[in-house]
Amino acid sequence: TGRTGGGGVSSLAALFQNHALPRLEQLALAAWALNKPRSWLLAHDTDTLEAPLSQTVHTALARRVAGEPVAYIVGSREFYGLNFQVSPAVLIPRAETELLVDWLIANSPKNAKVLDIGTGSGAIAIALASQRADVSVFAGDISEAALMIAHNNNTALVQGRVHLKCSDWLSAFQGETFEVVVSNPPYIAADDTHLSQGDLRFEPAGALTDFADGFKHYRHIATQAKAHLSSGGKLVLEHGWQQSEAIIALLATLGYTQVIQHFDAASHAEQGHPRMITATVGS
Ligand code: GLN
Repeated sequence: TGRTGGGGVSSLAALFQNHALPRLEQLALAAWALNKPRSWLLAHDTDTLEAPLSQTVHTALARRVAGEPVAYIVGSREFYGLNFQVSPAVLIPRAETELLVDWLIANSPKNAKVLDIGTGSGAIAIALASQRADVSVFAGDISEAALMIAHNNNTALVQGRVHLKCSDWLSAFQGETFEVVVSNPPYIAADDTHLSQGDLRFEPAGALTDFADGFKHYRHIATQAKAHLSSGGKLVLEHGWQQSEAIIALLATLGYTQVIQHFDAASHAEQGHPRMITATVGS
């Protein structure tokens, strides 16, 4: 088999053998590095790769071995069947968050105004806009760097139909009301050890944690949103798997009605984890 490592002539099979990575990650990284479909990789895995190409694959694999998330190396992540551009300026969209999109597509009233706050890459807002042409989708984020990524995705995926604005939660939407306000805010507590593990080390801290108890942004959003929801309007929140009881209590205290818990579809559990709460303003 071919030589591997930095320089010499090599094959994909040899390069893969020298990097302890899951097969799917190796294929994703090599497909990106060589700009070839996976079918090509599978058919050509013992071919000799010229040095510049094997070096490109080697570098991508080595970055992953050093911990960088695959999505940041290749610059994209699929979410709701759409290919979203991502960068270290935004949280990498998670499969669990598709639960919120499913709910929004099924439950947003006809011609509704829907606002996604803390939109990051724009994943929730753009996925909704892609499936519900009648809905007017608005989205905000406090990070200008994140908004640039969201803007690129908005243009590429839904012809710019999402209205994007720089906003500290709802502050830039003074006087506006919506039928639905949705958010997947940073909810990891400051002292959670997951922040210093795995892919999370490379994601923007401000998109993961509130630097407090994990509930700071829920208190803020739930309080602000009441003034921005029409009568019967819905607040839709993603949360961590141990946060549901406290958020349900918070929403009830603030006077929301029909506070409902929703479960994700964790593949290894009979029932998923509590992942999303919907609540209503008025009756
Ligand atoms: N779901 C993410 C995680 O647990 C956190 C995203 C968030 O804070 N909204 O890795």
